[in-house]
Amino acid sequence: MNMWEYDFLVVGSGLFGATFAYKATKAGKRCLVIDRRDRAGGNVYCESKENINVHIYGAHIFHTSNRMVWEFVNSITPFNRYCHSVLAKRKNKIYNLPFNMNTFYQFWGVTTPKEARGIVQKLRAASGITAPANLEEQAVYSVGPEIYEALIKDYTEKQWGRSARELPAEIARRLPVRFSYDNNYFDDAYQGIPIGGYNNLIGKLLGGIEVRLSCNYFQRRDSLCGIAKNIIFTGRIDEYFEFKYGMLDYRSLRFETETMEDDNFQGCSVVNYCDPETPFTRIIEHKHFEFGRQEKTVITREFPLKWEKDLEPYYPVNDEKNNRIFAQYESLGRAEPRTFFGGRLAEYKYYDMDRVVENAITLARKIAS
Ligand code: FAD
Repeated sequence: MNMWEYDFLVVGSGLFGATFAYKATKAGKRCLVIDRRDRAGGNVYCESKENINVHIYGAHIFHTSNRMVWEFVNSITPFNRYCHSVLAKRKNKIYNLPFNMNTFYQFWGVTTPKEARGIVQKLRAASGITAPANLEEQAVYSVGPEIYEALIKDYTEKQWGRSARELPAEIARRLPVRFSYDNNYFDDAYQGIPIGGYNNLIGKLLGGIEVRLSCNYFQRRDSLCGIAKNIIFTGRIDEYFEFKYGMLDYRSLRFETETMEDDNFQGCSVVNYCDPETPFTRIIEHKHFEFGRQEKTVITREFPLKWEKDLEPYYPVNDEKNNRIFAQYESLGRAEPRTFFGGRLAEYKYYDMDRVVENAITLARKIAS
């Protein structure tokens, strides 16, 4: 006789939990999904305002080069043809991102890749930097001091609350630098937004699966542990182990959302504010993700924030100290006999959504097929 009511208790209804539960259920397993929030979807949850899907936990654009993942999410719900491009604003001037021939024309007046490459090489030689040791050096090495000062330095320092010289070069290395007139923010083969919004994707992944909202695992740990054979845990790993090795650090965000009578505020979904005087880093205009034609528009100003205990933990701070603490939790996690950890909080990693979906599918194939 089977003593378990469920094969899997899935803690967290974000993309990891929802994808895992979908795959496991398809394989005939019984899943219970719980979430401490009163809504499902984790950080991709959207709220409808003026009939516009508002990304209340930050702008989310699905992009991937993994064909399996793209086909999987499109088999759940169709995606639109949205292609992300970002503008940067400084002193009332607009520039194109990521750095490309449009940006180089705006700064240097050059029109050919050969001219732009020549300027980058000269600036690099003049900087004397050969092996960039921090974000500032990497940015100056890639695009020179003028673009660094105008578009990278203050924006990045607002975002991370630290000097660019104290941040790892790796962050700047991720910024594409293109010698073509291509404003597409991502290099990936596929991108888009679920038609009708992310709630459609989550709703369809969780369709027919038992979901309990406003249910915090830690408040009912004993009773919940007894009802499922295995646990898929997508919450914070340090909380799971009762902060035995200390608390991991995060960067948080505060959002100010405003409905405007205008039908079009900024003409695109994301504008970065690169000057130090503006306290927010960007403005999101949500309707543009879905080519909305509503009469009004909804915008969100995004303010970076030092994380404290009761704030949302948005970005892990993967510095040496935190990585060391995480490694200790990770090794405890590996020894847990029937709990599997996945997703951005349990793995203490910034993951794009496609990686989260891929990892959840991989885990489901391994333990739930
Ligand atoms: P989450 O979405 O955080 O889900 C975890 C869930 O677990 C939450 O619902 C939480 O309430 C629940 N939970 C936690 N603890 C408990 C508990 N004790 N009991 C019950 N439930 C619990 N990725 C992209 O690909 N493109 C983007 O444009 C993009 N933009 C982003 C913008 C921002 C501001 C941020 C922070 C991230 C962005 N990401 C983006 C990354 C994306 O958000 C993640 O990859 C994805 O949401 C992670 O899914 P998850 O299921 O791991 O975590």
